[in-house]
Amino acid sequence: MENKKKIIIAIDGFSSCGKSTFAKAIAAKLGYIFIDTGAMYRAVTLYALEHGAIIDGEVNQEQLIGLLPQVNISFEFNPQRGASDIYVNGEFAEDRIRSIEVSNCVSKVSQIRQVREKLVAMQQQMGQSRGVVMDGRDIGTVVFPDAELKLFMTADAKVRAERRYAELTAKGDAVTFEEILENVISRDEADVNRAISPLRRADDAIELDNSYMSVEEQMAWFMERYEQIVG
Ligand code: C5P
Repeated sequence: MENKKKIIIAIDGFSSCGKSTFAKAIAAKLGYIFIDTGAMYRAVTLYALEHGAIIDGEVNQEQLIGLLPQVNISFEFNPQRGASDIYVNGEFAEDRIRSIEVSNCVSKVSQIRQVREKLVAMQQQMGQSRGVVMDGRDIGTVVFPDAELKLFMTADAKVRAERRYAELTAKGDAVTFEEILENVISRDEADVNRAISPLRRADDAIELDNSYMSVEEQMAWFMERYEQIVG
């Protein structure tokens, strides 16, 4: 793989489609860097929650924008996970950003222009040497419109909620299937309908519905497309 030219692989799609799992597997296979951009929006949301800019689910936009210069996001590779853990102002945050509280507020935070500008600039910087797999909502449309390979992932909402429910309950989180399903559906709606960088399939993205596909099947599907592009 090393001799092949390095490209940018952009993976966009709905919540809990398994984008990160798939992106991580692709990165491991190709020796690429995997960047989970959702984690960055979650990190800003966590910071806002911990600093009083979100109270009872209500985002104080002005206060949050004021806090932005103080939010320092960094990644550190964790060989056990085969992916990078996220740190907020030097503090490990990988676990806290996945809470249902953060999940319930993140789509409101990700609608704020100043938040998007800050994070998109960071993402562009991280991908400038190429050789990255980046997953999110606007990677193929806004962050890297020139990405050589773009995927748009979808899956049935119930299947997605079941996956997220299994993941959270396995960690011991006390959540119900209904609240997860509601969160998945409402985040999709907010992401598709927001004014700035809404979730949509880039014209040149290839669609992958993985409702009933294993990671191995997805990988075989992906490698065919990758080989066509990289040769
Ligand atoms: O990917 P994940 O579900 O962790 O993303 C959390 C939220 O962050 C999404 O629901 C979306 O509102 C926001 N997001 C975004 N743009 C990205 C990645 C995530 O707006 N590139």
